[in-house]
Amino acid sequence: MASVIGDGAVEAVRLADRATGESELVACDSLIAALGFTAQLGPLEHWGLDIVERRIVVDSRMATSVPGIFSAGDITEHPAKVRLMLVGFGEAATAVANAAVPLDPSADLFPGHSTDGPPPGAN
Ligand SMILES: Cc1cc2nc3c(=O)[nH]c(=O)nc-3n(C[C@H](O)[C@H](O)[C@H](O)COP(=O)(O)OP(=O)(O)OC[C@H]3O[C@@H](n4cnc5c(N)ncnc54)[C@H](O)[C@@H]3O)c2cc1C
Repeated sequence: MASVIGDGAVEAVRLADRATGESELVACDSLIAALGFTAQLGPLEHWGLDIVERRIVVDSRMATSVPGIFSAGDITEHPAKVRLMLVGFGEAATAVANAAVPLDPSADLFPGHSTDGPPPGAN
């Protein structure tokens, strides 16, 4: 979409084809934004990451092709990828655990369960 036309209320939108430069005015009385469906990698495209169809390729550790860079969530691509919120949370935990060990070789890949520690407030 190139522009929204209206005076106090939406009356039309101008749709533009970036490839051809052509545009079309479409009359409408409301506009519903559906943001975020297309990944815009921005500067990440120039970091040397292995990217397929605007998604960052990771291995089972959520490690990218660039050592020390990890990725999680919808932006990632791997053979078992399922784009759901809960999967993204799990991938984030995997990525953080696997990023922590190179930073601190004494750290354990498995960070432990929160229930392993003392109860809240206990010292
Ligand atoms: C219509 C629809 C319905 C869905 N329903 C469900 C559902 O019922 N249950 C479910 O589990 N999942 C659902 N999903 C999938 C779920 O929304 C995604 O799996 C989840 O949001 C992925 O989270 P994310 O943090 O990886 O990515 P996102 O939620 O997409 O977050 C990425 C963020 O990064 C920002 N961003 C993008 N590019 C840049 C940049 N260059 N610089 C800085 N920031 C940037 C974006 O604006 C966005 O805020 C649905 C998805 C869609 C599209």
